Amino acid sequence: MRYVSTRGDAPPVRFDELLLSGLAPDGGLYVPEAWPVFEEDEIRALAGLPYTEVVRRIISPYIGDTIAPDVLDRIVIGAYQDFDHAGIAPLRQLSSNEWLLELFHGPTLAFKDYALQLLGRLIEHSRALKGEHITIVGATSGDTGSAAIDACRGLDRVDAFILHPKDRVSEVQRRQMTTVTEANIHNIAVEGTFDDCQAMVKAMFNERAFSESFGLTAVNSINWARVMAQIVYYFYAAVALGAPDRQFTFVVPTGNFGDVYAGYAAYRMGLPVSRLVVATNRNDILTRFFESAEYRKDVVHPTISPSMDIQVSSNFERLLFESLGRDGAAIASYMSELDTNGGFRVGDDCHAALRQLFSARAVSEDETLASMAAMSRDYDLLIDPHTAVGISAARAVRDEYADGSTPVIVLATAHPAKFPDAVEQATGARPALPPHISDLYDREERYDVLPNDVVAIQDYIRERISVGQVRGLAT
Ligand SMILES: *Cc1c(COP(=O)(O)O)cnc(C)c1O
Repeated sequence: MRYVSTRGDAPPVRFDELLLSGLAPDGGLYVPEAWPVFEEDEIRALAGLPYTEVVRRIISPYIGDTIAPDVLDRIVIGAYQDFDHAGIAPLRQLSSNEWLLELFHGPTLAFKDYALQLLGRLIEHSRALKGEHITIVGATSGDTGSAAIDACRGLDRVDAFILHPKDRVSEVQRRQMTTVTEANIHNIAVEGTFDDCQAMVKAMFNERAFSESFGLTAVNSINWARVMAQIVYYFYAAVALGAPDRQFTFVVPTGNFGDVYAGYAAYRMGLPVSRLVVATNRNDILTRFFESAEYRKDVVHPTISPSMDIQVSSNFERLLFESLGRDGAAIASYMSELDTNGGFRVGDDCHAALRQLFSARAVSEDETLASMAAMSRDYDLLIDPHTAVGISAARAVRDEYADGSTPVIVLATAHPAKFPDAVEQATGARPALPPHISDLYDREERYDVLPNDVVAIQDYIRERISVGQVRGLAT
């Protein structure tokens, strides 16, 4: 399997090459040259297998022969060993055809662990083979940061710089990052929004001299390996409920479009998905796009679901690439319009084709709170505000897609204890932190505050990593 850039102007690469990089040299995102398609029998055969075995089968075509099978097995087993549920990604039934897919059983309590525990180990393996120091740079709206830090803490000759928007993540999210004291972890609170953080990370990857001399590696979902790992739980959940012999609707709380794009990838690989519902909070660029065909930036509003406080969704570029018949030049011109004019409009054909598979819904703060309260009342269940956005969206668009028999699976993207204030506000109950982080509020924090200025960030990285170290001259 090789990977091509969404902007059509970069040479194809292998999995091991994209793993330790970020953006393609033309500024685009890597996508598989062709989708591996699973036959119905192959999908049926996934039913009842352990999660790790489903991982191995789904990701094998993407990795090809770049990692030996026995090494890959060890990496996959290791990646999910610290999850606190034997099923890894269990389903919880809400009503006759409505289900929650619980994706918060990893070490940092959000779905990001499902990909980052794997990605951290894949990166470590590749780094050891190449022998070079690598520098991870990532932007976080709250959950990617802690998941990446947990996956990379203490790794030999790997330094991780994680940018989060200052005062715009929950206190639990911040502490999960800033209380990690290993010397290779560098937390930066940026005086700006997540979109500012993500734009600076992309700018650093786009500056080839900087990116190459420091061995910059992405842990955001611009790294294809993240998306790849997230495809797995769509298959895992659907086969448990009868795929490939039934259709499914997935409802996905969305910010950067990585998770729902993984659902799209599962669909392209042969999973019978009848609808993907994009659930956003009031930062609604995607909902506006699906309604109007116009993709236009707006200011970012802080909400009680901060991991989705995003206006420019990176992975949306990957979906557009598909819906424009893989026309890289068209993508490049839309993206430059986004930079210069703040938005663009796609043609009616492209928009209509996307509407066949996607629905979208923006959920207000009041609806989110009401949804948490209703789940507590009706099912005695505390859910986090991101999952609540998903539940609200599922119920709001039900008439549009429901035929009464298609199972609806809502992705539960975080543990309620990550957002205790919002949960308490909605339900009156304050969810307790799980035992392994019950002393989180007593741990000492360590982070630096930097301005929203890419030069300041680069200087900060330079001060902490010497190029000699990167090139392997010093150990
Ligand atoms: C990251 C995140 C999301 C959004 O996922 P994307 O892949 O960025 O669309 C939703 N909910 C939670 C809890 C998250 O951490």
